[in-house]
Amino acid sequence: MSASDSSPGPDLATLLPGTLDCVHCGLCLSSCPTYLETGRETSSPRGRVYLMRGLAEGKIPLAGVLAEEAHLCLGCRACETACPSGVPYGALLEQTRAAVERAGLRPTWARRLERLALRGIVPRPRRLAALMTLLAFAQRLRLDRLARPFLPKRLRDAHALLPLVPPASQRRRLPAFTKAEGERRGKVVFFEGCIMPELFGGVNRATLRVLVQQGFDVLVPEAQGCCGALQAHSGDLETAHELARANLGALDPGDVQAIIVNSAGCGAALREMDHWLGDEASRVASRVRDVCEFLDEAGLRGALLPVPGRVAYDDPCHLVHAQGVSAAPRHLLQAIPELELVDHDDPSSCCGAAGTYNLTQPEMSQAVLARKLDSLEPVDPDMIATGNPGCLMQLRAGAEGRGMRAEILHPIELIARALPPSPPS
Ligand code: SF4
Ligand code: SF4
Repeated sequence: MSASDSSPGPDLATLLPGTLDCVHCGLCLSSCPTYLETGRETSSPRGRVYLMRGLAEGKIPLAGVLAEEAHLCLGCRACETACPSGVPYGALLEQTRAAVERAGLRPTWARRLERLALRGIVPRPRRLAALMTLLAFAQRLRLDRLARPFLPKRLRDAHALLPLVPPASQRRRLPAFTKAEGERRGKVVFFEGCIMPELFGGVNRATLRVLVQQGFDVLVPEAQGCCGALQAHSGDLETAHELARANLGALDPGDVQAIIVNSAGCGAALREMDHWLGDEASRVASRVRDVCEFLDEAGLRGALLPVPGRVAYDDPCHLVHAQGVSAAPRHLLQAIPELELVDHDDPSSCCGAAGTYNLTQPEMSQAVLARKLDSLEPVDPDMIATGNPGCLMQLRAGAEGRGMRAEILHPIELIARALPPSPPS
């Protein structure tokens, strides 16, 4: 164990009111992936809320099972959707993980590795871009595959999840301003994210193309940065708050209609930044919209071209459970001619990606992914659509591992495929 953090931790008594909302009904149990896997009460939402209540009351120490369960939980928030009493599970978990982190209760390697990645690389665009360039180079020369057998197991697991890094020409940031095509319907800010431009630049370009074709001027503020979601999930609330504060000024919406996000994890963090920073952040937080939610509200204009194929839509947890968005992506996909939206058994359960969970808890992550693939495999879709980078990577790796033929895409990529060609500018 590492030494504890010297900075003041969260006041654990603040956990108490939220935990008192739990009436122990158990309605959340069947929606909890870790409970379904283990059958243990302590690995269920009700059990974890009980542990947090004990911690707040000073009856259960900040150690042992409580610390383990705080990190075995996926943070998927499916229990929040299921809970009739409104237990604010996500907020309780965030505070508990921060307390565990400050007390230095996680293994040193996990803490050091996450700090290095989540403080030193992910929120620093130049370092992240340099690392991706290096990785792209290694992948092109297949050096990564040669080195793989010599890597520690956790790095081998991480390598298995990584998609092919796109060439540098596809990793460029979007222009600061792109004018609407045709009759103008409004103006929006687009939040690019940190990982998205590097690994999913195509999704960002598709988002821009759809917004512009649908008549929206798009501003992409240069000063925007990492949203802080991954840092908060790992228990590093201090860094998460710093990053959120930096985005406050950069994303100030002024006279724009919405701040558009295409990554569910980032959208949830930005939408809830007022929970971290108070009322000063509510102006930004209240304008954040998932791209599919925004387009569904605005209504797609013009005819779409056919995109033939059977598509299974899978809900990212931080879109369906944290932002309450589930119908909008389905509506948009159903509007595409010749695209058949097919159901699968388990669309709103976690895929096991959960931020950095698939790296820090690989066994449980794989077990949760296996359940998801068991639900998708019999449907045999041509495409699987999901709106979060972690889920895209996890489902791609999982589907490939099972030999499934489905292409894994963001829903906005399918909308972009259905657009008629842009007129020459
Ligand atoms: S967040 Fe997900 S894994 Fe954690 S207790 Fe709730 S349902 Fe279970
Ligand atoms: S559903 Fe809500 S109130 Fe019921 S046991 Fe779960 S957390 Fe407690």
